[in-house]
Amino acid sequence: ASKQRGPDSFTFFDESMRDALRLKNATLRDLNSARKKGQFELFYQPIINFETGQITKTEALIRWQHPERGMIGPMDFVMLAEESGLIHEMGEWIFETATQQVAEWRKQFSPNLQVSINTSPLQYRENGIDVKDWQQQLEALNLSGSALVLEITENLLMDTSNSVKGKLKELSNAGLEVAIDDFGTGYSSLSYMKKFDIDYLKIDQSFVKNLTADSEDMALCEAIIVMAHKLGCKVVAEGIETEQQCSLLKQAGCDFGQGYLFSRPINAAGFEVLLKNGQHTLDPTASPQISLH
Ligand code: C2E
Ligand code: MG
Ligand code: MG
Ligand code: MG
Repeated sequence: ASKQRGPDSFTFFDESMRDALRLKNATLRDLNSARKKGQFELFYQPIINFETGQITKTEALIRWQHPERGMIGPMDFVMLAEESGLIHEMGEWIFETATQQVAEWRKQFSPNLQVSINTSPLQYRENGIDVKDWQQQLEALNLSGSALVLEITENLLMDTSNSVKGKLKELSNAGLEVAIDDFGTGYSSLSYMKKFDIDYLKIDQSFVKNLTADSEDMALCEAIIVMAHKLGCKVVAEGIETEQQCSLLKQAGCDFGQGYLFSRPINAAGFEVLLKNGQHTLDPTASPQISLH
C-alpha cells in the first residue's frame, strides 16, 4: 500500500506547493500596484488611558482591499512586502495617511490624540526612513513629533548598526515616541532597552489571553509593569477581551489598554464616530464615565 501511496502523495505535495507559489506570485503582482490603485486602508483601534478612561491614542493597522479577494489582513502581505522591498513605499504611505488623519482629528475632536504606527525593521536601514523628510511632513501639517508613536519590535534593538541607532535617535530627538510591540516574545534584553529612548512597552496579547489572578502570566505582567516603570516607560496591554483581564491589568498598574473589549480595529469613519460621541468612555470597568475631551 505504501508503494502505491508514495508517488500519489508526492504529486499532491508538488501540486500544493505549486499552488502556494502561484498564489504568492499573484499576490506579489497585485501588491505592486495596490498603493497606486488606492487599495490600502488604515483601520484604527482605540487605546484607553486607564487613569482617565479616555481614548488618548489609537493604533493604525493596515488593510488591503483586494478587488477579487476582499479584505486582506497584514499577516498575509506584510512579509511579502518586506521580501520584495515594497515595504518602503508602503511605510511612507502609512506615515502620510496616519499623520494627515491625526492632524484632522486633533483639529476637530481631540487636540492631544496620538496615533501609533507599526514599522518594519527594514525602515530603519540605510535606505529606509528619511528623518528630515518626515520632520518636514509633520511641520507642514502643524504637528508636533509627539503626535506619532512608532511601534518597533524588540529584536530591532539588538541591531547595533549605526543606521538603526542613528534613525531611532534622530526620530526620538524630533519628539516622536517609541513603543516596543509584542513585548516579551522576542529577545528582550534590558541593556538594549537602556540604550534607547523607549516610551512604551506593549505587553503581547499572549500574556493577556489566559490571565487569571494567580497565573504565571499575571506574575509576568506584574514584573513587566514594575520593570517598565523603573525604566521610565509606560505600559500598554494588548488583546484585552474580558473585563476580568482589564481589571487585573489595572490592579497591576498597567497604564493603557487595547483590545476587543473596548473596540475592534475600525475604519476611519467608524473611529471618527467614537471621537464625535466622545461623552462616554469605552472602558466598561471605569466609573464614572468620563468625557473624551
Ligand atoms: P500588532 O501590531 O501587534 O497588532 C495587534 C493585532 O492584534 C492586530 O491584528 C489587531 O487587530 C489584533 N487585536 C487587537 N485587539 C485584539 C483582541 O482583543 N483580541 C485579538 N485576538 N486580537 C486583537 P492585525 O491588524 O491583523 O495586525 C497583525 C500584525 O500585522 C500587527 O500586530 C503588526 O505586527 C502587523 N501590522 C499591522 N499593520 C501594519 C502596518 O501598517 N505596517 C506594518 N509594518 N505592520 C503592520
Ligand atoms: Mg502594533
Ligand atoms: Mg522620547
Ligand atoms: Mg502587538
